[in-house]
Amino acid sequence: MNSPGAANTAAARRHRVVIIGSGFGGLTAAQRLAKSDVDVTLIAKTGHHLFQPLLYQVATGILSVGDIAPSTRLILREHKNVTVTLGEVDKIDVENKNVHAVAGHIDFDLPYDTLIVAAGANQSYFGNDHFERYAPGMKTIDDALELRGRILGSFELAELTEDEDERRRLLTFVVVGAGPTGVEMVGQIGELAHRTLKDSYSNIDPGQARIILIDAAPAVLPPFGDKLGMAARKRLEELGVEVHLNAMVTDVDSKGIEVKDPDGTTRRIEAACKIWSAGVQASPLGKMLADQTDAEIDRAGRVQVNKDFSVPGHPQVFVIGDMMSLDNLPGVSPVAIQGAKYVAKQIDREVEGKQRPTERPAFKYFDKGSMATVTRYSAVVKIGPIEMHGFIAWVMWLLVHLAFLIGFRNRLAALFSWGMHILGDKRSHLSATSRFVYGRRALDRVYGGGIASSLEGGRRESADEKSPAEESPADK
Ligand SMILES: Cc1cc2nc3c(=O)[nH]c(=O)nc-3n(C[C@H](O)[C@H](O)[C@H](O)COP(=O)(O)OP(=O)(O)OC[C@H]3O[C@@H](n4cnc5c(N)ncnc54)[C@H](O)[C@@H]3O)c2cc1C
Repeated sequence: MNSPGAANTAAARRHRVVIIGSGFGGLTAAQRLAKSDVDVTLIAKTGHHLFQPLLYQVATGILSVGDIAPSTRLILREHKNVTVTLGEVDKIDVENKNVHAVAGHIDFDLPYDTLIVAAGANQSYFGNDHFERYAPGMKTIDDALELRGRILGSFELAELTEDEDERRRLLTFVVVGAGPTGVEMVGQIGELAHRTLKDSYSNIDPGQARIILIDAAPAVLPPFGDKLGMAARKRLEELGVEVHLNAMVTDVDSKGIEVKDPDGTTRRIEAACKIWSAGVQASPLGKMLADQTDAEIDRAGRVQVNKDFSVPGHPQVFVIGDMMSLDNLPGVSPVAIQGAKYVAKQIDREVEGKQRPTERPAFKYFDKGSMATVTRYSAVVKIGPIEMHGFIAWVMWLLVHLAFLIGFRNRLAALFSWGMHILGDKRSHLSATSRFVYGRRALDRVYGGGIASSLEGGRRESADEKSPAEESPADK
């Protein structure tokens, strides 16, 4: 085992801040601490910072991976007090102020004086984790590429089959969850089917695809209110999307999905491509912290933090972003970014001796509003009492997302890809390889669900499972 910081004695070293996560929260905290008198180690299980709000554009071939996932190491390389480390944290020892992590066959410790945990959230299947295999969510680059492979694979197989029922099944796409991600996803599958892929097959008309948005709630985009929810629904229906509300998904398998309607009847939708965007579950690191402290976690696994994002009883352990629960703040990037800036400021002031932890002011969130695209030229925007939808909202969405992408190159590349898509119906990134579709299962078979667990459990192959190559993309 390696211990990069173990040789340092307290007298000889600077205050050590360990940040877990390179998402909006973790990256912002590292950037804000770059001028502070501290040594920062940022550890994350990927080498990139991921701009999750545009994942659906990678899944549907508008943007490339690099456009939304720049290297964390390169973003932070100017900051000499920041060390970037690849690794998956599998243990936090609050009492001994130590983080343990693994990367491949190497495991190591990172001792800290202050810890910022910003490990985000994963997709939640509300206790039905077996749905995941047939209806992946969209949280990572791997997810987006897998979905790209599944969506395009369904069209390709529909072109080949001679069985009418099978063709219908292959051309049925179901997205579960009518929040921003679900709406953006069905909108783009609709655009793909009706515009981009038009006239590009010999045996099928992609415009005949059945695209269904399902939610157990009674509205589309509930956080945006009735007016904008109705506007988004209308726009989707104009594009041919079927919106099924008050419909609870009760089962998902390789061939389709089972839904229970409010009158208690159950129906089945035969569909090859299913996508899950219905709920979130905070990183399991939250429960690990709660088990060692007085902190509580809510049903989504988020740590209930103090007004300064610290864990109750541990002023030097902060939890920010999607992993924490405070004053009903939503799981959106501005909450993670503003939380990170606030926490970095407190650390800076305390290291300089200008403030004690007990003197921290309460965090105040500045709500700049929320927005979601529906289709090309159509978005919804809510800023306080102001509600907008349609073209102007879409232009605002475009400008805000362009501004928040990291790096000039990425902004330019996104602008170019959007220009091609908007003006010429072109999507430059429609390539999909079998690795996209089968990679996750192959890794699961080797590592049993996570690279870290491979070190503990070794191989976990089940004799009765089909090898990935024996399944078609549509049966996954
Ligand atoms: C598809 C999608 C669309 C979205 N659209 C919007 C939108 O339009 N507007 C908006 O404001 N918000 C949107 N969000 C929400 C927004 O992306 C999140 O609120 C934000 O990313 C939270 O930031 P975070 O730093 O808490 O977590 P994340 O950005 O999720 O970062 C978590 C980090 O922790 C790392 N990590 C996790 N576990 C470990 C571990 N054990 N060890 C080491 N590292 C670990 C991950 O690799 C990652 O680097 C969207 C989210 C998704 C998934």
